[in-house]
Amino acid sequence: MSGFSFSTRAVHAGQDARTTTGDVVPPIHLSTVFVTERVGELTGGYEYARGGNPTRDSLQEAIASLEGGGSAFVFPSGMSAEDTLLRAITRGGDVIGYGTDMYGGTLRLITQVLAVEGRRHVAVDMLDLANVEELLVTENVAVLWVETPSNPLLDVYDLVSLSEATRRAGTLLVVDSTLASPFLQRPLELGADVVVHSTTKYIGGHSDVIGGALVVAEGLELGHNVQSLSGSRLVADEVAFFQATVGAVPGPFDSYLAGRGLKSLEVRVRRQSETAQQVAEFLDAHPLVERVFYPGLPGHPGHEIADRQMDGYGGVLSFLAASPEEAIRICEATNLFTLGVSLGSVESLIEYPAVQTHAAKDDTPWPIDRSLVRLSVGLEHPEDLIDDLRQALG
Ligand SMILES: *Cc1c(COP(=O)(O)O)cnc(C)c1O
Repeated sequence: MSGFSFSTRAVHAGQDARTTTGDVVPPIHLSTVFVTERVGELTGGYEYARGGNPTRDSLQEAIASLEGGGSAFVFPSGMSAEDTLLRAITRGGDVIGYGTDMYGGTLRLITQVLAVEGRRHVAVDMLDLANVEELLVTENVAVLWVETPSNPLLDVYDLVSLSEATRRAGTLLVVDSTLASPFLQRPLELGADVVVHSTTKYIGGHSDVIGGALVVAEGLELGHNVQSLSGSRLVADEVAFFQATVGAVPGPFDSYLAGRGLKSLEVRVRRQSETAQQVAEFLDAHPLVERVFYPGLPGHPGHEIADRQMDGYGGVLSFLAASPEEAIRICEATNLFTLGVSLGSVESLIEYPAVQTHAAKDDTPWPIDRSLVRLSVGLEHPEDLIDDLRQALG
């Protein structure tokens, strides 16, 4: 499929029906075990579904194709993808660098769960590249974890500059590209080593499946001091070994749903980005809104970088209400925007990050502003959404 454009690959990559009945949609493979006609030889390439399953493979093939990566792996959740990756590419004593604005769950994983096994962690404000350069010379950083656009402040980090810096330092650059989706941003093309998605969000796109994915750059190797457990120096082999060993695998029906969502990703995200731009402009002009965070606004600090590295600004935005009380009141006053913590789906959501998604940041030097409200714009009509916000703002 490599000669085809994004839209065509989204519909067709990994979709060979592998059947004699001519299904246009490949069937969901439920079998946990596959026939082997001879001892030690796989008949159809599969043996036991923890190690591999055709429905999972078709989703992996589609995501790898869209991100332009060597290989993709799918997981039962975004967090499980992150956990498996970080365990596969770091060992006790290694340092993980991460941004000051990112998903609360990732912060907990790095600073609480992975930390008990001796992995160290350092936060760095990546809006100023000098901070990253300094960190990379003062610490031996195994992995730099970047979420861009970031959640919930929509910071946009310059992936070309970051990848040049990590390459010089021998550090692996991992990009959580969930907020952008593969349609708006392809980090591997900008020099990143691994891309992470919560497929629960834009890829699934319908709030009905939890899932995650990793895409590993072709030929990527483990850091020099990382002892391989798989016997291979390739990150893809090490991830496959960890995934099959710990059993971090999604079920066939979940894999099917994420793949079904992926086919319409482009049209959904195009429309969501257009609507989010209108919503951002409405909020920006509203007297009761203090500040809007959306890369599509010319005044946003990441606007120019987003123009360079993204194909649109996405469907998520946040804003500061006049006070914490006002922020909570607005979250509870909308009718069309559902009060709920996820993002990237067909229905619009509103949430209060300081309590609902980012309480893990309370103990950091970068706690969430208690007047912040986050929106995820869905596929409803832009005028209806703006009317809803207008009545909620009062
Ligand atoms: C939701 C999310 C995750 C975690 O994914 P789950 O599928 O909920 O486990 C990670 N990163 C970002 C940016 C997210 O929005």
